[in-house]
Amino acid sequence: MKPHIEEEYIHVESTKWKPFPETLSNGGIRWKLMHVSPEVGAWTAIFDCPRGSSFNRHIHLGPGEYLLTRGKMEVRGGVENGGSTAIATGYGYESCNARHDHTYFPEDSEFYMTFLGPLQFVEEDGSPIVVVGWEQAQDLWARQNGVV
Ligand code: ZN
Repeated sequence: MKPHIEEEYIHVESTKWKPFPETLSNGGIRWKLMHVSPEVGAWTAIFDCPRGSSFNRHIHLGPGEYLLTRGKMEVRGGVENGGSTAIATGYGYESCNARHDHTYFPEDSEFYMTFLGPLQFVEEDGSPIVVVGWEQAQDLWARQNGVV
């Protein structure tokens, strides 16, 4: 018999923000890792994104769902360029292989997202730079919190 996966609880408010790596983002984005799921390759985090911040170019290697709880987020170029401009409270679904060249926050924003697979950060020509999945996210969070 396989074991039942344990339930978890995190009090988000009392969990400290940590800087999201500047190799993956610009403008002082911070994050809190909520959960990783090795069984489905998923990871869930909440991001604090100051006005003018952005995520570097990436491709979602699995779909993802987000809830923008504060502010505004321009995805896939924003609505003016055929993408989405999420306004809080806003929900969005990004499909597998969605490419995000410039996810931009024109005002102070916060969003929660479950990634059902890794993010592949890429050069403009699509060549890979780094892959961030549940293992890398968990490893980074553990190092930032002095667990390892
Ligand atoms: Zn994205």
